[in-house]
Amino acid sequence: MSGKILSIRALEVLDSRGNPTVKCVLKTPKCTVSAIVPSGASTGKHEALELRDGGRRYGGKGVRKAVANANTALSKAITGMDCTDQEAIDLVMLELDGTTHKSKLGANAMLAVSLAACRAGAVHKGVPLYEYIRSISESETIRLPIPQLNIINSGKHAGLENDIQEHMIFPMGFKSFSEAMRAGVETYHQLKAILRKKYGAQATLLGDEGGFAPPIADVNERLTLIMDAISQAGYGKKIKLGLDCASSEFFKNGTYTLGKKSYASAELIDVYRQLSKAYPLVSIEDGMAEDDWEGWAFLTKQLGNRLQLVGDDLLVTNEARIKRAIQEKSCNALLLKVNQIGTVTESIEAANLCVAEKWNVVVSHRSGETEDDFIADLVAGLGASQSKFGAPARSDRVAKYNRLLEIEQELGRKAKFGN
Ligand code: PEP
Ligand code: MG
Repeated sequence: MSGKILSIRALEVLDSRGNPTVKCVLKTPKCTVSAIVPSGASTGKHEALELRDGGRRYGGKGVRKAVANANTALSKAITGMDCTDQEAIDLVMLELDGTTHKSKLGANAMLAVSLAACRAGAVHKGVPLYEYIRSISESETIRLPIPQLNIINSGKHAGLENDIQEHMIFPMGFKSFSEAMRAGVETYHQLKAILRKKYGAQATLLGDEGGFAPPIADVNERLTLIMDAISQAGYGKKIKLGLDCASSEFFKNGTYTLGKKSYASAELIDVYRQLSKAYPLVSIEDGMAEDDWEGWAFLTKQLGNRLQLVGDDLLVTNEARIKRAIQEKSCNALLLKVNQIGTVTESIEAANLCVAEKWNVVVSHRSGETEDDFIADLVAGLGASQSKFGAPARSDRVAKYNRLLEIEQELGRKAKFGN
């Protein structure tokens, strides 16, 4: 049956923070599929534009303009195209927009269409979405990722300033994704019990990504609590730690401010070095700010041989910035967020560029998510070694983990896991 796109209908729906976002429903003769776009809070300034309405409605966060763009210009251009031609669909949208940051039509409008087209493409090829993504990305293999679980939330995701944003566990010493998840979930529950006992039930309230947001200012104290939880859950050396500092959020006029202390780039790198000596830290994301290229190169020179250094706001899943980072040896891993760039094709290109450099690729959610589990199939189809989908709590996060568990079961003995 023809893969001809019969119609595209966009609408305004809500994300996990109760903010409006774009959903696209796409029809072909064989299927009706849909996709919903996520949204960040600690957003990089070089990301593609998320088009918002402004004004009073939803505090300015309405997406009626983006929805209208999908329902008019994008619909006109895409209707009649073949849903299995992802590259052509994305290219038509890119040409129609014609701007560097998708500021005419909105990356949220374009991504909703791009994701929905990809889902339809899989249906028309008669394969699961992860297999379809494997084929269009020409990735070597399907793989279940090591899940980075953000179990203590702070910074913007907990309504705080000048703080490290994410404290993650990396269940690495396991044979399968489901065993790694089980260990991560048991550690999460253990941490909840420890927090409740030591600080009271208030300390177990959750941040935007489902991790606990206890009123503990000191990073060392937080990591120590996580280490206690790992050990009490019985996982000892099998679980490692990672941080997303989201340092663009606490960088101003050439200075980083954590709590009440200020640091130059080199001093902050010393803080990271100390943390990596005191704890089994394996990964630091956004250790330096989005335009502190010098700081990034120094960080990688100093710690890149023993730590994974992940570029999020630095790279914004953008080919040009990734190429510069490769050239300047700024970091050694990519955080891939589909809405930072706005199309499936460009997301795949970003991943492939990094794979060719032997960088790790971490497929990531946004702090504002939805029930859409597209990124679970994306990480598996790209064969990327890691996912970052938040804590194992709240359906907007758990939906992705549940999809990965389903993929693992579907693959059976063929399921590959981790590196
Ligand atoms: C992140 O910084 O990696 C993140 C997921 O947060 P946000 O979506 O708010 O940018
Ligand atoms: Mg980040």
